[in-house]
Amino acid sequence: MALRTIIHLPDPRLRQPTESVTVFDAELQALIDDMFETMYSVKGIGLAAPQIAVSKKLAIIDVSDDRSTTLCLINPTLVEKQGEALLKEGCLSIPGVYDEVPRALWVKLSAQDRDGQPYELEAEGLLAHCIQHEIDHLNGRLFVDYLSPLKRELARKKVSKTKRRQGGA
Ligand SMILES: [Zn+2]
Repeated sequence: MALRTIIHLPDPRLRQPTESVTVFDAELQALIDDMFETMYSVKGIGLAAPQIAVSKKLAIIDVSDDRSTTLCLINPTLVEKQGEALLKEGCLSIPGVYDEVPRALWVKLSAQDRDGQPYELEAEGLLAHCIQHEIDHLNGRLFVDYLSPLKRELARKKVSKTKRRQGGA
């Protein structure tokens, strides 16, 4: 396994739409393992492939306290969502910036696991927010896009000054 470099705002590769994963081979397994190692090394709870400059519909999540509940989202879509909740978010690609983002309180996810097996998952609260945050990454969208233009500008300035990387997704 190897640590990958996380790219930061305003890197244009964070804004590109990603390509579907069609081959579930050893190379993909190694990429997923690298992503988990990278995410845990910076205390993140989620990481999407574009954040390490890989343009694939692939993201990983682990919101558990003991880092034992791994979730792999490949070619994910939200098939249902309900309610609305505000939750403070951060992002490994936007270090030092945290703000409240409105998202669905509850979601139903349809995706494939690391072996290509399709699955569905219902989630709420932090996990639901994290799933929506990661799927946004796969569409070139970042959580600061939900903030006011002024806050977005402040975030951009803060990122250029902050090189410390911890927390977020
Ligand atoms: Zn993020």
